[in-house]
Amino acid sequence: MPLNEFDFIRRYLQVLPGGADVLLGIGDDAAVLRPQPGQDWCFSTDMMIAGRHFFADDDPADVAHKLVAVNLSDMAAMGAQPRWMLLGAALPDLDEAWLRPFCAALLGTAARHGVVLIGGDTTRGERVFSVTVAGILPSGQALRRSGAQAGDDVWVSGCIGSAAAGLQHCLGHIRLPEHLAALCISALRRPEPRVALGWALLPLAHAALDVSDGLLQDLGHILAASGVGAEVAADCVPCLPQLKTVLPPERYWPLLLAGGDDYELLFTAPPTRRAAIAAQADLGVPLARIGRITARPGLSCHDGDGRPLILEQYGYDHFA
Ligand code: ADP
Ligand code: MG
Repeated sequence: MPLNEFDFIRRYLQVLPGGADVLLGIGDDAAVLRPQPGQDWCFSTDMMIAGRHFFADDDPADVAHKLVAVNLSDMAAMGAQPRWMLLGAALPDLDEAWLRPFCAALLGTAARHGVVLIGGDTTRGERVFSVTVAGILPSGQALRRSGAQAGDDVWVSGCIGSAAAGLQHCLGHIRLPEHLAALCISALRRPEPRVALGWALLPLAHAALDVSDGLLQDLGHILAASGVGAEVAADCVPCLPQLKTVLPPERYWPLLLAGGDDYELLFTAPPTRRAAIAAQADLGVPLARIGRITARPGLSCHDGDGRPLILEQYGYDHFA
């Protein structure tokens, strides 16, 4: 018997009960949660559209993982603990061979980070997904983009540029050696949201965001919100070392500095906290100091020889 909408929700999505704070989860007209005193709630939505954010023939488990991961990354960037999510899904059909691995990976990645699915909407259409995630924060402590101060260090987690290189390789715009291509494609399809790091940065960082659209463009958002400038040492931006050797500079620098899809945390903190921040590498994510915040507005970026790097674009814009 072909699956109908309600069987699909019951069988594949309504499989886990909510936590103690979920009074009512999937199955009624809306979910009901009970806030705890001393908490702020933090909300974010991210969409993924076939042909734009993923390829139609991508592994459904990878699509689901990334859908959850990009949303959790926004929670990480605020220093929030993600707790609940809602899923809006437009599907061309209820093909169980596609939906089974999709739902398993969706709920699996969410559960690994302590997140439960509390509702959503399902409709027929071209494959489009929208996840809304909600998390909690100690009252008044969210890591905003507007907190950067002159003299702060600029830090970034993980490895930048690999996902963008993976995408360019898949599109046939660059040709990477096989082992490097595998690493980059995995960075593109399986980003790991830095949730534990974001939480650990709450008492340490002045400002933070997650790098999704290009390092320099995203840093620009912090600078604009904080009314400051920055100097970035491009050589200090962490990346897979082989990437720099296989790509010519005119390909390498734009991928690294403006490529996007990294889902790493970019944050600023005073130099007095260097040791405390470096100690957070214990969480398993390397952290690199890539520059500093200046009182003078503007963003300058230079290479290892101190030459200014001028890029045509600082990042991705859906409407540019
Ligand atoms: P209504 O018609 O009242 O909006 P629906 O039939 O759309 O209710 O949904 C029934 C229940 O199933 C609701 O609790 C809703 O949150 C849940 N639900 C529907 N689609 C999804 C989905 N894609 N993911 C999670 N929960 C869903
Ligand atoms: Mg509905």
